Amino acid sequence: MEEETRKRLDGLLRELEELGSRQVGYPTNQDFDYTPLLPFLRLSANNVGDPFHDSNYRVNTHEIEREVLHTFADLMHIERERAWGYVTSGGTEGNMYGLYMGREIFPDGVVYFSQDTHYSVVKILRLLKARSIMIKSQPNGEIDYDDLYETIRINRDSPVIFMANIGTTMKGAIDDVSRVRAILSDLAVTNHYIHADAALSGMILPFVEEPQPYGFDAGFDSVAISGHKMIGSPLPCGVALTRREYVSRVARSIEYVGVLDTTLTGSRSAFAPLMIWYAFQKHGLDGYRDIVRRCIDTAEYAVNRFLDAGIPAWRNRNSVTVVLRRPSPEIIRRWQLAPFEDIAHLLAMPHITRDIIDAVVDDCVRDNSTHE
Ligand SMILES: *Cc1c(COP(=O)(O)O)cnc(C)c1O
Repeated sequence: MEEETRKRLDGLLRELEELGSRQVGYPTNQDFDYTPLLPFLRLSANNVGDPFHDSNYRVNTHEIEREVLHTFADLMHIERERAWGYVTSGGTEGNMYGLYMGREIFPDGVVYFSQDTHYSVVKILRLLKARSIMIKSQPNGEIDYDDLYETIRINRDSPVIFMANIGTTMKGAIDDVSRVRAILSDLAVTNHYIHADAALSGMILPFVEEPQPYGFDAGFDSVAISGHKMIGSPLPCGVALTRREYVSRVARSIEYVGVLDTTLTGSRSAFAPLMIWYAFQKHGLDGYRDIVRRCIDTAEYAVNRFLDAGIPAWRNRNSVTVVLRRPSPEIIRRWQLAPFEDIAHLLAMPHITRDIIDAVVDDCVRDNSTHE
């Protein structure tokens, strides 16, 4: 390698490692090791097409991908044979897939989503040209059920496509899908579809003792979960899961043009399924139960430390997202805390230790005293 190239790479690596160690504001687990998978980077592998069908491009990891999907089918309470899905490029693609499915099933449906919904959804709705209505949120980030009820009531003649937040980005709030279903049943809306954005909490709720309602048995018709968030990976990835019966509907209409093309993108990463599969092999479901318990303990610790230091902070139940009063720009920059209006948040991801929390709290306290 040229001296110049090596220097550039070494410098960049040091800088990114240093930044990564002080990143507490984004929900990406930095604690992983995929070195056993490195030899696979020598291959031009490609998971193009439906993971449940043969492909002419046989340098793929479809078999591993199907195992990953089986694991998520179990976690999301749907029989493996009745589930369909694929490993995506991340949460956004999973949301796009789910909302696309909802719109294909109910072309004249109205998409309802709360104010606290991830920014990807508004963009997706524009792409899909889907009719949509934004519903108010409660202060904790959960959807306002009264506003939802009234708005659906006024639009009762249209099918409902509900975009459920299973862990909002900013506050980790979870929309209660059982209440949403009660509203639908109360208003006698029989044509409905529920897509769940479970980017982060899709890997939390299956591992806690008293989860909020989630999963296909709770009414999900599709769900998107990120791979680079709670699981952690050097490349962004995720999982989209839905009911197999829906996909055959979409697949048929595309078979008309000659291919069984059931995924949103054409070429897809063959490495992403390997990482997720390896992570589950390494930790096992019991391992994830411990990891999630530790994260929630750390989040609780952080809330208490902030409160003891006189800094307002709180979190939603079963969430690792700690919401605090917005600190100064220096603090936000130093710890890469994600700000929004008068709040900011930090995420107690697996690589975040109590020592790191202590350092953040101490910095905030020092910051307060210099600004008062
Ligand atoms: C991160 C996140 C997404 C988007 O995921 P990407 O992997 O960044 O595309 C969607 N929804 C929520 C709630 C998220 O937190």
